[in-house]
Parts: sequence; C-alpha cells; structure tokens
Amino acid sequence: MRLSRYFLPLLKETPSDATIASHRYMLRAGMVKQDSAGIYIWLPLGFKVLKKIEQIVREEQDKAGAIEMLMPTIQSANHWKETGRYDAYGPEMLRIKDRGDRELLYGPTNEDMITDMFRTYVRSYKDLPQCLYHIQWKFRDERRPRFGVMRGREFLMKDAYSFDIDAEAARQAYYRQFVAYLNTFGRLGLKAVPMRADTGPIGGDLSHEFLILAETGESEVFCHRDLVDMPAPGAVGDSDLLSVFEERTALYAATDEMHDADEFAKVPADKQLSARGIEVGHIFYFGDKYSAPMNAQVQGPDGKTTNIHMGSYGVGVSRLVGGIIEASHDDNGIVWPKSVTPFGAGIINLKVGDEAADAACEDLYGKLSAAGIDPLYDDKNDRGGQKFARMDLIGLPYQLVIGPRGLKEGVVEVKTRATGEKQNMTPEAAVNFIISEYEGVA
Ligand code: ATP
Ligand code: MG
Repeated sequence: MRLSRYFLPLLKETPSDATIASHRYMLRAGMVKQDSAGIYIWLPLGFKVLKKIEQIVREEQDKAGAIEMLMPTIQSANHWKETGRYDAYGPEMLRIKDRGDRELLYGPTNEDMITDMFRTYVRSYKDLPQCLYHIQWKFRDERRPRFGVMRGREFLMKDAYSFDIDAEAARQAYYRQFVAYLNTFGRLGLKAVPMRADTGPIGGDLSHEFLILAETGESEVFCHRDLVDMPAPGAVGDSDLLSVFEERTALYAATDEMHDADEFAKVPADKQLSARGIEVGHIFYFGDKYSAPMNAQVQGPDGKTTNIHMGSYGVGVSRLVGGIIEASHDDNGIVWPKSVTPFGAGIINLKVGDEAADAACEDLYGKLSAAGIDPLYDDKNDRGGQKFARMDLIGLPYQLVIGPRGLKEGVVEVKTRATGEKQNMTPEAAVNFIISEYEGVA
C-alpha cells in the first residue's frame, strides 16, 4: 500500500478523554473513530488488525475441532424468556421492538439462541459431541463504556458453544477450549493467564478468565508468578488435555471475586503476584442451565433422554486490539507483534522525487509485496522527522529507511521497531532479512 493513496487519518493532538495508551494510540494512529459512546467506526488500519486477530482466533478454534457458523445480531426475546434470562439480564441488554410490536434484542451473547437451534435438530447421543462457534458483533449497554474498544458497547466476540452427553465429556470439551485459548493468546504475542473466575450472568460451576497483566486493567487479580511466563502448549492430543489443564491450574490464580486470601498466603512470598489484568477471554461449563429450561435433550444409548451438557467460550476479539497495544507499546507509539501487524514493514522514502531513492523504494516495495510481506510505502512528500514519527506511531515491526546518501554507499537502513536497533544493509540483504524475520510467523 502506498501511503499517498491510503486512508490514514492521524491525529496530532491526543483527545482528552483517552486516558490509557491503547485508546490514545488507536485514535492518534487513525485506527478507530468513536461514533457515539462505546460505538466505533473501524478505520482501515484498525480494521486490518481486527481481521488478523479474528483469523488467528478462527484458526485455533478450527484446530480444536469447533465448527464455524454465524448467528444474527438481532434475537427474538422468546428464547430469553424461555430460559428466564430476559428479566435476569438487566439494563445492559438493548431491547428493541419491531413494527409489529414484537420484542427483539441486540444479542449480548448467544446461549439461548443456539440452544434453541440445537434442540431443533439434535435428538440422539450419536450426534454428540459437537462444538459450534461464531465471530459476531455483540451489544451491551454498558454503564460506563470507556478505554476505547476495551469496554465498548458494540464489540466483536468469538463465542463457542459445546454440546455433550454427560459431565465428563463436557469437561473434556472445556479442557480443549482451555488449551485452544492458551495457543490463541500465545500466537497473538500475549501472556494471558488463566484464572479461576466467577460465572456471572452466564451461570455454571466451572469457569476461567484469561487475563493479560497490565496496570490499566480493570480487574484485580492474584496469581503465582511462574504462571505468567509459561509458554503456550502447542498441539495437545485428546489424552493430554487434562494434564495440561491441571498443570496450568495447579498454581494459584484467581480474579478478585474468586480470591481466597488463605490459599494465596500458601504461595511463597516471592512468588505472590497481585496485579491488574485485562480480561480477554472467559470460558464456562454450565451443564444443563439452558438445556433444562429449554428441553434440549438427547436420547442416550440406553434409550433414556437426558439434558445436553453445555459450555460456552468467549474471546473479546475487538478488546484484544486494545489489549495487545496495552501489552506492547512505548512512548513513541504502538509496537505490533508480527502476527497481527497491519503491514509487515514500512518503507520510508526520505527524498521523494530523487531518482535513485524513488527507484530503490519502488524496487523494495515490489519485492516485499511479492514475498507477501504487505509493506506500507511512505511515498509522501513530508519531512523526515514527520515520517519517522508517523511510522513509529503506527508500530510496524520493521522500517526500511531509504535516502540518496545511503544509496550512494549502496545501503538502506533497517530499523527494528521493538528494540530501536538500526542496521545498514544492501537493499537485497534488507529484503532477505525481513522475509526471514517473518518465517514461521503464522
Ligand atoms: P467484563 O467482566 O469485562 O464486563 P464479561 O465477563 O461480562 O466481561 P463475557 O460475557 O465473559 O464478558 O464475554 C466474553 C469476552 O468478551 C470477555 O472476556 C471480554 O474479552 C469481551 N467483552 C465483554 N464485554 C466487553 C465490552 N463491553 N467491550 C469489549 N469486549 C468485551
Ligand atoms: Mg467475563
């Protein structure tokens, strides 16, 4: 993409209501524009990151055997009346009436709808287990939308729903999603710690939240330090799911609501970490909380009918855009992990109009594009300082700086955004360096 043709509306001033880094940088870097409280337009740069995160979430769900579908944003109130949640949910639910005075709502989550769908088709244990997911916009009329996309009113969520014959099978589904979450957050470049969590309005008796530790997080958390740096497990066979789950939950980790001070005191003092965290995922096993009131039952091998055992598994896809920036930025702007960066590298032409500089930039642009790096070429006629600041702000992992002076010596400068390290190399070596840096990034 050539910057001269792109739509990148940068802000010079920091909007005064943006109190945390991710919110500030998302506005300044032209990623989002607030349309009304907690409702955002995703501008091209922000939308690219959102799509990349969504795709990683999708791939890890697919690997875990979940099957993608799409449910509507607008739901009938009937499903929610059947489960009793229509009254229980409270003012966070946006209730709507159509022209025929029928009660609708903009979905804050989909347990009720999917349980209704599932019972329509599935009557036998032979059709279980099953796990279905979608990635769809949700609406919650939050009391205090704030921190930009981190606590929006309209937000993008991945929500998966598992259906099993009994509690044991349902727990296995839970462990499978638990492991999928560790791998998802690992690929996103995040250290997300699973913690025992309250089940809230979703209900149930087994629940974990995944939190990234950050001073600006809204949740208070307590955990064993060693959990923070545990690497993602990678591919885990069915027979090892439980042991990975046990390994990760053996050490103390709990959100504020589930915190047990006596248990925490048993953690060695130098390993006790009390911190703040951003909730990026939340998983629940809730048994027959929805299947019982909705009569979602299957016939077992013995001919008896039983309620389906269910769980649900949410990831805050749009919140993650802000969460990743909270975890990865400096005073000059965003520092994108390679897996979600909107463009693979920036090319800065220090002297647009100079024949040698233009030609070298075009050549690099062509070669990086052909290699799938998706470069952003700053071909605008601005001062060098402005170009550097802009490229630092939007946070691409690598910058190639091309000017007539370097070219006389046959070199371009390659800057690594995260470390600030600068190296001079031939244009050819620069292309190879960047291609090799992206090897293995999926
Ligand atoms: P919170 O405690 O932050 O209000 P929640 O527990 O109500 O979240 P869940 O119902 O567990 O949220 O939803 C699944 C995921 O959706 C959360 O882990 C979070 O990442 C994301 N999410 C929830 N509410 C919002 C929101 N208002 N804006 C952006 N993302 C959200
Ligand atoms: Mg939650």
